[in-house]
Amino acid sequence: MHDVVIVGAGPVGLLLAGELGLAGRSVLVLEREPAPGSPWRTAPLGVRGLFTRSIEVLDRRGMLEPLLATAGDPAALAGPRRRAVGHFAGIMLDAANLDTGPQPFGLPSSTPEFVMTDLGTVETVLSERAVKLGVEIRYGAEVSAITQDDRTVVVSDGEQEYAARWVVGCDGGRSAVRTLAGFGFDGTEPTFTGYVMLATITNEERLDPGFTLTPEGMYINMPTPGHIGMMDFDGGAFDRSQELTRDHLQAVLRRVSGIDVTVTDVRFASSFTDRARQATTYRRGRVLLAGDAAHIMSPLGGQGLNTGLGDAVNLGWKLAATVRGSAPEGLLDTYDGERRPVGAQALDWTRAQVATMRPDPHAQAIQAVVRDLLATRDGTNYVVRKMTGATTRYDLGDEHPLVGRSAPDFRLEDGSRLADLMQDGRGVVLDFSADGCLRDSGWDADVRYAAGPAVDDLGLGAVLVRPDGIVAWVGDRVPDREGFDRAARRWFGASGAR
Ligand SMILES: Cc1cc2nc3c(=O)[nH]c(=O)nc-3n(C[C@H](O)[C@H](O)[C@H](O)COP(=O)(O)OP(=O)(O)OC[C@H]3O[C@@H](n4cnc5c(N)ncnc54)[C@H](O)[C@@H]3O)c2cc1C
Repeated sequence: MHDVVIVGAGPVGLLLAGELGLAGRSVLVLEREPAPGSPWRTAPLGVRGLFTRSIEVLDRRGMLEPLLATAGDPAALAGPRRRAVGHFAGIMLDAANLDTGPQPFGLPSSTPEFVMTDLGTVETVLSERAVKLGVEIRYGAEVSAITQDDRTVVVSDGEQEYAARWVVGCDGGRSAVRTLAGFGFDGTEPTFTGYVMLATITNEERLDPGFTLTPEGMYINMPTPGHIGMMDFDGGAFDRSQELTRDHLQAVLRRVSGIDVTVTDVRFASSFTDRARQATTYRRGRVLLAGDAAHIMSPLGGQGLNTGLGDAVNLGWKLAATVRGSAPEGLLDTYDGERRPVGAQALDWTRAQVATMRPDPHAQAIQAVVRDLLATRDGTNYVVRKMTGATTRYDLGDEHPLVGRSAPDFRLEDGSRLADLMQDGRGVVLDFSADGCLRDSGWDADVRYAAGPAVDDLGLGAVLVRPDGIVAWVGDRVPDREGFDRAARRWFGASGAR
């Protein structure tokens, strides 16, 4: 029996698998596809943007460098018209308006804020690490049944049964695990049908590069010739079970763009919608959900993958401690408590964009107002901070503005960075106090101790960082030992329980 069976070897399942492997748990990943590397996951079709929070997670586990070795140019997607830092509802955000200095209680970071990559590259980096950590990935195994009691959960792919103490459904937007385990999945119905295609397009030069909002919706002319995205505000009426024909794709492109282009030789095409739904709980008994299995939304604003990676890193250490038996009471439930609100915000973020883009006169009037606001510094910075997750804060109490946020990348004078200290998946206590007040704290199994001084300690005496990089506690110049112990107990249970 495995400690954990993960269903789905997408980015979320693979990151979670690596986190559990790092904590020494036995993990089996079951993946429906016979092998990795589908053209839908590699560039250009599988191109995805990663934001600050995801980039930090990869950096803190030593996976950023291999990823960056293959990443593309973020400005390329916006097209050559202007230097842009993303978009809101298809309205481009001008990089010239962006405040690039550190935010309050922030530090300059050595990592980029945005990385353009593709699912295939992310999955390669994540799976190589997971396998090195002892994770088994079985391809060609499509889970079609689940049963659970209070001690075990068993999944089946129709040929074989796999028993585990826990199962996590990371099997994407049409999650079988979600359905089979009886999760509720509530939300809103689509207003548009979206399309992605790779085709030959006669007179493609008539289409503007990058994102173009039109009275009918939006089209995106991506840097690879013939790679087009479209959003058609048809009320989600297109029957997505039918085959996507050249005629249909051409008709939609002509209608949405208002340009008489001709589509030939469709090599790849698929459709999506802005249906936005979220699981009503992320845990039922011994079954949990993460990533698209827990929340679906339109791709507008690049939230799905980033939110899913956030789920995985939040869940990994909590589930590992629960399996090990060292978790404090209720630790696993904080996964749902922390991540479901973040998922709900991501859904709303994409809904707000859809509502702004709609072709009706009311939405068009709102769009004009939003366009004016986004042309300002405040507007641009508001959107970029929301989009990149910089404003995300878990409600862990109000004792300090940093608590509940991702820790800034503190740099010690010996040259080490917080990210270096987090590679083994333990929490970290950074003790900047002159006499190392928190030394020999007794939490070594779960928390790595590192003494300052720091290049910039932001005026703090100590910081306790959870394994997922979230600040759990902040100490004054002379850190309060009892406060630290309370915080450590809250997240790691009894000292030395491992
Ligand atoms: C056009 C487009 C552009 C996007 N751009 C961005 C972006 O820029 N930034 C961003 O953050 N997000 C983006 N997204 C969303 C992002 O791709 C998804 O949120 C992300 O892939 C979800 O990862 P996941 O691991 O949860 O699920 P998936 O990537 O869907 O992986 C699920 C895996 O589970 C497997 N599986 C499914 N069913 C079973 C089963 N029964 N048994 C075993 N295995 C199964 C699948 O084969 C798959 O490998 C975009 C989406 C689209 C459509």
